[in-house]
Amino acid sequence: MTDRNATLFERAKTVIPGGVNSPVRAFKAVGGTPRFITRAQGAYLWDANDQRYIDYIGSWGPMILGHGHPEVVQAVQAAIAEGFSFGAPTEREIELAEAIRRLLPSLEMVRLVSSGTEAGMSAIRLARGATGRPKIIKFEGCYHGHADALLVKAGSGLATFGHPTSAGVPPEVVQHTLVLEYNNIAQLEAAFAEHGEQIAALMIEPIAGNMNFVRASVPFMRRCRELCTEHGALLVFDEVMTGFRVALGGAQSVYARHIPGFEPDMTVMGKVIGGGMPLAAFGGKRAVMEQLAPLGPVYQAGTLSGNPVATACGLATLRLIEQPGFFDRLAAQTRALVDGLCAEAQRAGVPFSADSEGGMFGFFFLPELPQNYAQVMTSDAARFNRFFHGMLERGVYFAPALYEAGFVSAAHSDADIDATLQAARAVLAQL
Ligand SMILES: *Cc1c(COP(=O)(O)O)cnc(C)c1O
Repeated sequence: MTDRNATLFERAKTVIPGGVNSPVRAFKAVGGTPRFITRAQGAYLWDANDQRYIDYIGSWGPMILGHGHPEVVQAVQAAIAEGFSFGAPTEREIELAEAIRRLLPSLEMVRLVSSGTEAGMSAIRLARGATGRPKIIKFEGCYHGHADALLVKAGSGLATFGHPTSAGVPPEVVQHTLVLEYNNIAQLEAAFAEHGEQIAALMIEPIAGNMNFVRASVPFMRRCRELCTEHGALLVFDEVMTGFRVALGGAQSVYARHIPGFEPDMTVMGKVIGGGMPLAAFGGKRAVMEQLAPLGPVYQAGTLSGNPVATACGLATLRLIEQPGFFDRLAAQTRALVDGLCAEAQRAGVPFSADSEGGMFGFFFLPELPQNYAQVMTSDAARFNRFFHGMLERGVYFAPALYEAGFVSAAHSDADIDATLQAARAVLAQL
């Protein structure tokens, strides 16, 4: 039998750099041939060889209902019939902004954009414009999209300004980005002590899904909030991944359970709010958001922003995840997967740890959960790669890199979880 995935990959590579339109899809970290997907339904994907996979990527987060939910499909079809794009305001944009504000009250006002990158980049510009300050804090291992100022890693030594992580980003462009270690309170305090009056924003993934799955500790998050307030910097939550994913109220509602009255000043969202369509948002306090054009001096715009088909998809998705019990069931299903994987690893004598919140999870070939990027990177990559390919061969599709989170959808049944754990038992036994 010819391998159509391999044929398509060869063809793709002649016309698309690396054969893919987003690097992680190329399987570079794990090796092998990426699967070209032809269709998806519920918890499953099918590739070009018509092989079926249980999907734990969910388009990197958006597909929280599973693929092709009939009510979402219907809403999108109805929207398409009315028109693809108008370049003028629509009622659905108001409805979506109102829904976001109702579910995440810290977003008093919202602006819709088309990607998480765009939302993060705009939030930084707005924070700088609103505070009149140049510097931002980010944490090693957090990803906020590929805006120039955010493609940066820590230099040597404590609390240094970063180095670009991509060619094409001049060092001057990242000279105002401070890169700190995640969960390191002492370093955070030192950075504010030294640069406090210059810091416009502290941007953080509250549960970091771009270094697999690492929670900001409650004391660390409390200190982030206190220091931002003390120094007049804006606390910006990047909830592109966690928003409407770890809980209906996002990661901010998870931290508010532990820190009374906790709220970020601004929030960046994406992924689930578009339900699989290009849609993202940023929002926050009215006084800050009113600095945006056309009201204020901070420019930001988009031809397809608030696209009518994307807003229909997002609204239909939000309506379904708002139903009572949705997140309880999703969280229980995700927890069953994570607990089952831990039990199988223990049975096989493989060092392993895993965690989840709502419908998002991560696992590590490490005996204990890591607290920061350096610890994540001590994870056994060779072992992860063998596990990944063993699972893929058995029809289970986890993210093809050890620093990516995983996602369970409402369409994942008990039988899907059981089948995943059976496959894991066979694969772990060979590690
Ligand atoms: C995915 C992601 C982004 C970037 O979103 P895109 O839509 O891919 O541009 C930003 N921040 C976080 C936390 C993400 O997970």
